[in-house]
Amino acid sequence: MSVAQPVPGAPDDLRTASVCHHLTGGEGARVFDPLEVARATERVVCRGNQRKYSRFGFTRDYHYGVATGYVVGCNLRCLFCWAAPTRDNVGGEGRWCEPAEAAEELERIARQRRTGFVRLSEGEPTIGREHLLGVLEEVERRASIRRFVLETNGTLLGAEESYVAALARFPKLWVRLALKAGTPEAWTHKTGASPESFALPFEALRLLRRHGLQSRLSVAAMSRDPRFMGQHERVLLLAELARVDPQMVLDLNEEMVVTHPATMRRLAAAGYPLKRYIRVPGLWRWVQVAYRPAGLLGRKHISLRHSLSAVKNLFFGT
Ligand code: SF4
Repeated sequence: MSVAQPVPGAPDDLRTASVCHHLTGGEGARVFDPLEVARATERVVCRGNQRKYSRFGFTRDYHYGVATGYVVGCNLRCLFCWAAPTRDNVGGEGRWCEPAEAAEELERIARQRRTGFVRLSEGEPTIGREHLLGVLEEVERRASIRRFVLETNGTLLGAEESYVAALARFPKLWVRLALKAGTPEAWTHKTGASPESFALPFEALRLLRRHGLQSRLSVAAMSRDPRFMGQHERVLLLAELARVDPQMVLDLNEEMVVTHPATMRRLAAAGYPLKRYIRVPGLWRWVQVAYRPAGLLGRKHISLRHSLSAVKNLFFGT
């Protein structure tokens, strides 16, 4: 049984942050510096080149399936996060892995499931630079692994160009950066992080391009779901992204919130009751993904064509 432990040096609302008070603006609401939280989290989930993992497994993502290491700890507290409680309860039980051990586990699962794809997920993999670079070195040495997907919120990469430069050395690396919001205010509301840190993921994209990673970079955004992003915010997000690279707007992987049970708990705690939650045993995940968002989109009439047209107008006039 894992026990919730505080993150030394982190804001109070992160110490028992299974409920995110900042999201409701209620008592105890406060924002935090994600870089400071990353440093505080690193002190708990990393020791030397080791990092704490909650488990290793396999999912069917990325078409071919992907072997996944679930890291403990993140420096954001997203409203729609599906991660296990180990995202916040970083001091609980876990498995300490050196880079070689983590890579070996990933390779073993990838071989077993006949995929060449591996990734680290659930927390923020860029916390613990020494460990991540070590895992990437191990991955490069292992012929059966074809691609390492780095799923990141981009805050640490946007703050440290040397980190991006170090990552660019690894040919098997593929970066998937997830944008959370289109304005500083929405960013703070959805992640709990300070408005000043809103620019970090966009800066990370600039740095990744500067260091030659644009062909191995995909950008995702929680921008297809009208329950969490109004049309104005969505257009502002697309415009901000277009300032980095207009092509990224066209290639943007727009996502709906997946109503995973952990997400539902966080949303309910933050005062977002989700309606029309269809639960069909064995099929619930697919029903949620395939039907529920489509109905909501139909009601809100969000149109990518109109949003892109708005971006064009913002830049070139009507
Ligand atoms: S969605 Fe990702 S970045 Fe946000 S809190 Fe969860 S793990 Fe961290």
